[in-house]
Amino acid sequence: MQNKFILVLNCGSSSLKFSLIDPELGTTLLSGLAQRLLSEQASIKIHYNASHEQQEIAAPYDHQAAILVLVKQLQQLNLISCVKAVGHRVVHGGESYCQPTLINADVKAKIKQLARLAPLHNPANLTGIEAAESAFPELAQVAIFDTAFHQTMPEKAYIYGIPYALYKHHGIRRYGFHGTSHYFVAQQAAERLEKPLAQCSFISAHLGNGCSIAAIKNGKSVDTSLGMTPLEGVMMGTRSGDLDPGIIFYLINQLGYSVADVEQLLNKESGLLGISELSNDCRIIEDAYIEAHNQQAGLALDVFCYRIAKAIAAFTASLTQLDGIIFTGGIGENSNLIREKIISQLSLLNFEIAPDANVAMRFGQSGLITREGSRPAWVIATNEEWVIAEQTFQLLNEKD
Ligand code: ADP
Repeated sequence: MQNKFILVLNCGSSSLKFSLIDPELGTTLLSGLAQRLLSEQASIKIHYNASHEQQEIAAPYDHQAAILVLVKQLQQLNLISCVKAVGHRVVHGGESYCQPTLINADVKAKIKQLARLAPLHNPANLTGIEAAESAFPELAQVAIFDTAFHQTMPEKAYIYGIPYALYKHHGIRRYGFHGTSHYFVAQQAAERLEKPLAQCSFISAHLGNGCSIAAIKNGKSVDTSLGMTPLEGVMMGTRSGDLDPGIIFYLINQLGYSVADVEQLLNKESGLLGISELSNDCRIIEDAYIEAHNQQAGLALDVFCYRIAKAIAAFTASLTQLDGIIFTGGIGENSNLIREKIISQLSLLNFEIAPDANVAMRFGQSGLITREGSRPAWVIATNEEWVIAEQTFQLLNEKD
């Protein structure tokens, strides 16, 4: 087998997702997930062909230990020589990175420095990079930044209404996230329209545990709902999204919350979970609403969908044409109820759902969900891993 496969790594603070991908076809040869890292329960699942293997991870139970299990498995399956390079998902690239980047000591130092903007993600991404460097010292390591696609936003979209010095001296501005996903689904939608992406304008809605909306004009991101941190914008699984900043002072000054309490409340206890008081999992909330007529579950879904519809309508101000809306992410790809509720609030923009097609587009099916005569909306299954593999491969080919 040719050595053209890219090992894609997505490192969280206690997890590691990996896939071995053919960058030209997008097919996955091997994939898996290491979970509960840094605890004695650390384990790794590896999927290859039809087989699924689960193993415990030995002490010190960290990312490096997980990568060692993966390397051993690749050796046993005779796949180690097919790996051309390692592509890493890195959450925050700040204003420094708008392109795939070959990792060297300077790049690592910058990723570390940017951890002040993404304290939960960048340190974990760096851990993955260092573990992969010691496991594959001879291979190129490439960083693909989640913020990169949004670096084309104009100043008016990324500057906050606070003193400009805070941007100039501290980098406080909108960066946006889920860039790789928004880019992938926009490219797929352009293919469906048989037009070059550079001639297409879309609004894409990435709806998973984290949610973001992006306005894409002539193939480039011109605005997005997530901000300097992944807390802004539409409501999410456990994150509040936008709220009156005065509420934070009220919580602290009147209700005695500490700053850490507020951070916990807005990041972990709000959103679908906070309103429903049931779960952050959209499936559980939908079941409670449909089967048990749980009113708070219904309210959580109403608020979730209304805010998304409102954000989509707001982003039409960033565009001069709208070729369609794209739904993606775990909720966007699977929940016909959420999509129907969002589209029903966008009739002024000439969107009308096709109920049967909407129900059919679930569980990995991608396609059109609007009636003839409506402006189009599609479900498109995202594939961030493929983008990371493709961009890593392209960068190395340019360098060869
Ligand atoms: P993450 O942001 O962690 O990558 P995902 O994109 O995997 O998250 O999305 C997770 C969300 O997708 C959860 O809220 C889950 O309930 C929702 N989801 C998955 N399948 C369905 C479904 N069939 N119906 C409704 N929601 C679903």
